[in-house]
Amino acid sequence: MSPNPPPVRVGHLYPERMNIYADRGNIAVLRRRLEWRELSMTVVEVGPADPIPDDCHLYYLGGGQDRDQAMVADDLARKADPLRRAAAQGAVVLGVCGGYQLLGHGYTSTDGRRLAGIGLLDADTTAGDSRLIGDVVMEATLDGRTDTVVGYENHAGRTHLGAGCTPLGRVRRGHGNNGSDGGEGAVAGRVLGTYLHGPLLPKNPGLADTLLAWALAYAGSPVELTPLDDHLERAAHAVAATRAGRRR
Ligand code: GLN
Repeated sequence: MSPNPPPVRVGHLYPERMNIYADRGNIAVLRRRLEWRELSMTVVEVGPADPIPDDCHLYYLGGGQDRDQAMVADDLARKADPLRRAAAQGAVVLGVCGGYQLLGHGYTSTDGRRLAGIGLLDADTTAGDSRLIGDVVMEATLDGRTDTVVGYENHAGRTHLGAGCTPLGRVRRGHGNNGSDGGEGAVAGRVLGTYLHGPLLPKNPGLADTLLAWALAYAGSPVELTPLDDHLERAAHAVAATRAGRRR
């Protein structure tokens, strides 16, 4: 490990509005998993009044209901260029649920209103007339490794992917992107969207480490992440998987 790599810079977009199901907890997990390895991160919180910096290594946009999403969508679309630049250079971007929808081309909400997305993912979302709710278990493949990822979904949106991205995973339990094609989430390079809350990362430490490894590589300090004692995380993962199994 190179001595004292500089902190990973994280851009947390709309932390106040887009924080349903404590999605903010994903940031806490990234921070702790770095600190446990004597690495560190700094967080720039970007609200409606702030520009999006183009020098972050990882950007994060959590979930929100239609009302919250509507309040940030225009603002995000107006000022997304630095984020697009960073993503094009290889920065990591993670969007959850409403955040995932806004990383795509757009979201047509339950009342028929069209919210613009920023087109980082070739995905489009339209609300259906029921909500897709419940525990999810999926097999997610990243960097050629397939891992079980668990979480909780609650969305009206049905997301369909274009040719420019691939699903993050295949659902074993739950609905995923649209309840019909078996796909969950989307990946294009290091841009990743998912419907899974929980929050996502506490119960999926492998996924958290993949994102950190990508961010460190992009930051120019590729680091072999030392294994951590993840017995609590694995126990939480197992509980969520069992609960999902019981739902059907
Ligand atoms: N408004 C979106 C939907 O219901 C996102 C919901 C969410 O982020 N939980 O599809």
